[in-house]
Amino acid sequence: MSELVMRAEKLDAADELRGKRDGFVLDTASDHAADAAGVYLDGNSLGALPAVVPGRVEDVVRRQWGELRIRSWEESGWWTAPERIGDRIAPLVGAAAGQIVVGDSTSVNVFKALVGAVRMAGDGRDELLVDATTFPTDGYIAESAARMTGRTLRPVTPAEVPGALSGRTAAVLLNHVDYRTGRLHDLPALTAAVHEAGALAVWDLCHSAGALPVELDEHGVDLAVGCTYKYLNGGPGSPAYLYVRRELQDRFDSPLPGWNSHAEPFGMRGAYEPASGAPRGRVGTPDILSMLALEAALEVWDGVPVEAVRAKSLALTDFFLQCVAEYVPEGRVECLTPVAHAERGSQIALRCDDAGEVMKRLIERGVVGDFRAPDVLRFGFTPLYVGFADVERAARVLAETLG
Ligand SMILES: *Cc1c(COP(=O)(O)O)cnc(C)c1O
Repeated sequence: MSELVMRAEKLDAADELRGKRDGFVLDTASDHAADAAGVYLDGNSLGALPAVVPGRVEDVVRRQWGELRIRSWEESGWWTAPERIGDRIAPLVGAAAGQIVVGDSTSVNVFKALVGAVRMAGDGRDELLVDATTFPTDGYIAESAARMTGRTLRPVTPAEVPGALSGRTAAVLLNHVDYRTGRLHDLPALTAAVHEAGALAVWDLCHSAGALPVELDEHGVDLAVGCTYKYLNGGPGSPAYLYVRRELQDRFDSPLPGWNSHAEPFGMRGAYEPASGAPRGRVGTPDILSMLALEAALEVWDGVPVEAVRAKSLALTDFFLQCVAEYVPEGRVECLTPVAHAERGSQIALRCDDAGEVMKRLIERGVVGDFRAPDVLRFGFTPLYVGFADVERAARVLAETLG
């Protein structure tokens, strides 16, 4: 047995989150050739299925919808689900209850948050800063938000943000973890710099929530958004969330005021009057089937401290880097993810010219990561269900594939 295989066994034996894997539906060794049992390293694109979800969805469909029908809006708690599930996500992102509402896609919530931030910043501030390396949808939406609100959009890298801030800055949209490189940005320092300039900080947590501590309240983040189908395992297209800091809720003027965010939704009144608190971020009728699948999926977090998740995430990515260094010929791949823990999310991105072809062959052998054009191999490490033996095997199959 190789030294790394033995090391993986030891790390797995000492892993306090090990039992969490049983809460997920994953391949077993018999699904693949003996040496290539499935290793799922794409939880940063679509989290695996928590085992409790199918039964819950069946109940929601057959009993709540099929038997109770419209009574379920009250009796099954459908109406209040967006805030209730927001409160379930809150501890994972360091937020006290009453500040997060679940619904709509991340893209739509980026729009609500940015326009809301610009409106709160006031008329004198005519610039909107956006991370130039952002996931494309955030950049597209920011451009439209700037055009609609008559602001100028300035794309800058996160490192350039402090120097780009001025009395003209209304708001800044940043990603906590870069989706491509896995780089973790300094949320406390950047938020403080944005505030010093008198602007609002809007954070996209898609690649950090569920993988590492976020601490929104502690660092005074103004608004934040995130998806729930990556590290939160909510299922394909599960609804996103919007965080508005409590002190700002009364000033949050949503660009999408729907009847669901009205102070009295069933008053059916002609004039809009916004609800107070988190419900102000709602728009229309919530997508109940996806939302309640997400609620069930969040049960896997019961009793899981985010700090333990972070510690395991770093141990997994450290071990993967060690295995890659050992198995893969030097110079065959270039690591784009920072080695420093303080700058690393929960993924490893490796660059090589034939990345598309390499990932295709890896997936054929049961090691599932993803390819990001033009030349990036991306491996996501979900601490709740990825183990160290998985990591060793993935690196070994990668080396054979690159061979
Ligand atoms: C995954 C992701 C999104 C996804 O947006 P949707 O509207 O849910 O499709 C947005 N932003 C970032 C940074 C992401 O990583």
